[in-house]
Amino acid sequence: METCPADGAVALQVAGAASSSAHALSSLLTPGPSLAPSPSPATATGPIDSSSPAPAPRPPIDWVAIERRCRAILPARGVVAARQELLAYDCDGLTLHRWEPPLVVLPETTEQVAALLRLCHREGVPFVARGSGTGLSGGAVAETPALVIATTRMRKVLEIDLPNRRITVQPGVINSWVTRAVAGDGFYYAPDPSSQVVCSIGGNVAENSGGVHCLKYGVTSNHVLEMEVVLPDGTITTLGSGLAETPELDLRGVFIGSEGTLGIATAITLRLLRAPASVAVLLADFTSMEAAAEAVRGITAAGILPAGMEMMDRLCIEAVNDYLGAQEYPADAAAVLLVELDGHQEEVAVALELATERCRQAGARTVRLAREAEDRARLWQGRKSAISALGRRFPSYYLQDGVVPRTALPEVMRAIGELSERYGLPVANVFHAGDGNLHPLILYRAGDPGVEQRVQELGAEILRLCIAAGGSISGEHGVGNDKRCYMDWMFAPDDLATMQLVRRAFDPEGLANPGKVFPTPKTCGESAQRRREEPALAAVEVF
Ligand SMILES: Cc1cc2nc3c(=O)[nH]c(=O)nc-3n(C[C@H](O)[C@H](O)[C@H](O)COP(=O)(O)OP(=O)(O)OC[C@H]3O[C@@H](n4cnc5c(N)ncnc54)[C@H](O)[C@@H]3O)c2cc1C
Repeated sequence: METCPADGAVALQVAGAASSSAHALSSLLTPGPSLAPSPSPATATGPIDSSSPAPAPRPPIDWVAIERRCRAILPARGVVAARQELLAYDCDGLTLHRWEPPLVVLPETTEQVAALLRLCHREGVPFVARGSGTGLSGGAVAETPALVIATTRMRKVLEIDLPNRRITVQPGVINSWVTRAVAGDGFYYAPDPSSQVVCSIGGNVAENSGGVHCLKYGVTSNHVLEMEVVLPDGTITTLGSGLAETPELDLRGVFIGSEGTLGIATAITLRLLRAPASVAVLLADFTSMEAAAEAVRGITAAGILPAGMEMMDRLCIEAVNDYLGAQEYPADAAAVLLVELDGHQEEVAVALELATERCRQAGARTVRLAREAEDRARLWQGRKSAISALGRRFPSYYLQDGVVPRTALPEVMRAIGELSERYGLPVANVFHAGDGNLHPLILYRAGDPGVEQRVQELGAEILRLCIAAGGSISGEHGVGNDKRCYMDWMFAPDDLATMQLVRRAFDPEGLANPGKVFPTPKTCGESAQRRREEPALAAVEVF
């Protein structure tokens, strides 16, 4: 492991087996004896705490022996050890950085996951959960040698309970399959990342994923009722409850968005919604991004809450039209805005009128309306295929994910354009405009000398811009290893220290997805330096 312990590391201890939410609560949050220093899993090499005595380094892992033990737990097809097959797991959707894992396993049941984590716990082996590998922040990769536990063979729908509007699935189930399983009965699952035809529900939970419809209906955490989770010591527990509201501390909420650092979700109960009676989609085109952003501001100021409100710039429009082989979007537009409105028929009719008026006031040249399912799907198809379309034109991209207040959209869009020119790198914008969640896509050709460094610097500048505008370094793609060095731009040392305490309550040994989310001294010199100066964080061991 790369990380470095700090002086007097604080440990909360996970007690033994727990099988219900109440047990999970008491076992997780019982402080260990006098918050004593815990044995560190890490090797002390970084600048974070040069004054503290170096802890015993973890002995090297005998991967051949671990593979043999995994084979005793799983069927033969559940162990991937051949070099050429391991290469398929060396990155996620963020292809800028690659690390080949030493071993990958494909469990099929909760019991197998628990046995694997007990093995990891006993042998001190770090592990990384992996769903479909579409994450965009380097979360599902083994940056330091770790067992990759992929859920791609855990794809069963376990239970459909329509009277209570819920469905329970294994974590490897693909997002769009959930809606497919219940659409015939007039239900659907609301969170719909643009990657929904490939990403897994387990990955969605870990990233607290959003999507087009999250503006009105909320992100993943608003739709997960209960989870079966295997903790890093192999304990199987339950977080949350099938009921909408219960009085205990919300550990379900703590787990959602924790990016694989607290354990592995093995069964997830999701909330289902009734399909709306009426849906309509508007497509408005503008001669500038600022005008489109102004329309977003106008629509929300009018009191309309669209189901989705998405924006695309000229680069995306050109790429999509080319990709679809049609002039689906006006070719000479500088920006298009897609607005979906849903609800009762009368409600949609009023909202349509108001939204059209606000688009025109902001300078829309045309406003096109689609009511039929087929026409709506056609308008959305371009948005949903925008990233693939750009991928055909530019071999490499770095998709940034930041948030700004909606009111800051026009200024921030202009500033991103200026940064793009300054760095000499094209930036395409396709994003969830309704909730201010930007996705600037920095386009480049890998192999151009020094380009990757410039791409990362430009990405960092865009995030600084977001923070300066009162926003955030991530809206939905998570922190992973890509943005961990920016965490202390947003959070004070005390905040980070508190987050580490929570993490340690679940995972005292630091085995689950090490090196992710938090700044590490080896990779984030600047953060580590600041941390050394802050006693509060220096007291907490960093995984
Ligand atoms: C073209 C494209 C469009 C995208 N659009 C969106 C979008 O609109 N909205 C959005 O939010 N994201 C989007 N994403 C990002 C990505 O699809 C999501 O983050 C998705 O939730 C990742 O799911 P996955 O199964 O691929 O997870 P992975 O990439 O495999 O893993 C992601 C993280 O989840 C952890 N993890 C995986 N399974 C489990 C589990 N069972 N238990 C605990 N931890 C687990 C991993 O350790 C890792 O940290 C997009 C990605 C692409 C490539």
